[in-house]
Amino acid sequence: MYWYLRLDLILALTGRLIVIVFVVNCGSSSIKYQLINMEGERVMAKGLIERIGMEGSTLKHTPAGKYTIDLKEEIPDHKVGIRMAIKALTSKEYGVIKDMSEIDAVGHRVVHGGERFTDSVLITSDVLRGIEACCEIAPLHNPPNLYGINACMEIMRGTPQVAVFDTAFHQTMPKVAYLYGLPYEMYVKYGVRRYGFHGTSHKYVALRAAELMQEHMNDLRIISCHLGNGASIAAIKYGKSIDTSMGYTPLEGLIMGTRSGEIDPAIIPFLMEKENMNAQQIDDYLNRRSGILGISGLSSDFRDLESAANRGDDRSQLAIDVFAYKVKKYIGGYVAAMGGVDAIVFTAGLGENSPFMRDKICNGLEYLGTRIDPDLNQVRGKEREISVRRARVKIFVIPTNEELVIARDTYNICRRIIKL
Ligand code: ADP
Repeated sequence: MYWYLRLDLILALTGRLIVIVFVVNCGSSSIKYQLINMEGERVMAKGLIERIGMEGSTLKHTPAGKYTIDLKEEIPDHKVGIRMAIKALTSKEYGVIKDMSEIDAVGHRVVHGGERFTDSVLITSDVLRGIEACCEIAPLHNPPNLYGINACMEIMRGTPQVAVFDTAFHQTMPKVAYLYGLPYEMYVKYGVRRYGFHGTSHKYVALRAAELMQEHMNDLRIISCHLGNGASIAAIKYGKSIDTSMGYTPLEGLIMGTRSGEIDPAIIPFLMEKENMNAQQIDDYLNRRSGILGISGLSSDFRDLESAANRGDDRSQLAIDVFAYKVKKYIGGYVAAMGGVDAIVFTAGLGENSPFMRDKICNGLEYLGTRIDPDLNQVRGKEREISVRRARVKIFVIPTNEELVIARDTYNICRRIIKL
């Protein structure tokens, strides 16, 4: 597998124009992909493979501007999944390229880059070993990312591959923000510290907010609220992430769809004893059965909670209230950490689509010099400034686009090497 040497890559890239980038995001049983033409940053096709290694695996492939094609086939592993995606992309009927050789580069989402990866990198054998080394701190996320990388490297030999890390953007955090109150040796020995996630998304929306304000990100203090099923907030001071709510794993911070977010650590041994749970079970309990699902007892989806609360369901209302309160508290904390704020951005499923939740979170933040305009706030999934005119602190809804950041990084890294 480690045939991929830097020299080979440089030779492969020499004289090559990077136009079409294949963006791959592998989960344990899923693959999301997009094919992006970098001339105009145009999405040519996108797809989702689900239930890899299970019964009923499917591929949903959508060529730009056309209907989704639903393919049901056995997909035992990620390699077969990638082959299927390429088959769909090159299909005579619904493909968007003639041949796999039209793919100039592949960009991979990698969840954990530890302390080593502070930016996106061209994948070499050494980089692969580095990603493997991070599996210890991200045992659920990094192995599927590696399956995807290995599959693409085998199938598309000679095509440059780039890794884009969820953690990289947060590597600018200072020690005061990332150290836990544990014996220092735990940090030195095992790398136990805050890493933060959703970095690609926070970076994208912060950049867009700066563009919309016609300012440079390096002159702004931005609080980015990525509120989806997984949720995190980042304090981005003068272009750099200086703090974020997720920690050593994505479990810390806000209350999420099914994740508890921060709790008193003493609750863990208490519950293990009372409810007779082992380490695996408590981990599952905190990651999959807690959060707004746990509080409401109804659903992990805010849409369900909003309609249940409207029907008078108290626990759904409580889950919404607890979530909004926590987000507001983080915003306040990050204003303090940055010595002020110039813009607050909402993104991801809930942040982009729920005027109700945005209003609830921002209600009471007027002391910062901001207020939501109720009419402008009636927006779903579209980029818009939603604060009142002339507000000192701007509030934006900005749909995230992690795939585009991955494609851009892949394109830029490959171009830099071509110019060597
Ligand atoms: P993830 O990528 O973390 O799985 P998403 O960013 O896709 O999550 O967000 C999914 C969540 O967004 C859903 O669980 C739901 O709670 C919320 N959501 C999506 N659309 C709406 C909507 N119209 N109103 C309220 N919440 C929504």
